[in-house]
Amino acid sequence: MSICPKGRTSKSKKNKRKAQSWKIVTPTLVRCTECGELMQPHRACRKCGSYNKRTVVEVED
Ligand SMILES: [Zn+2]
Repeated sequence: MSICPKGRTSKSKKNKRKAQSWKIVTPTLVRCTECGELMQPHRACRKCGSYNKRTVVEVED
């Protein structure tokens, strides 16, 4: 919205803007470089426990 609004924001325009908010909470996933599993970026892999090409977390099994 501009600093000097020319008109009132319509209901549909306001609703459409609110409908965009789900995009923010959608988690971003990247593939693990070690095992190829989907994982959150900047987190250790849940499957093999590797991060930055080395194992940082011991994973059972
Ligand atoms: Zn992995």
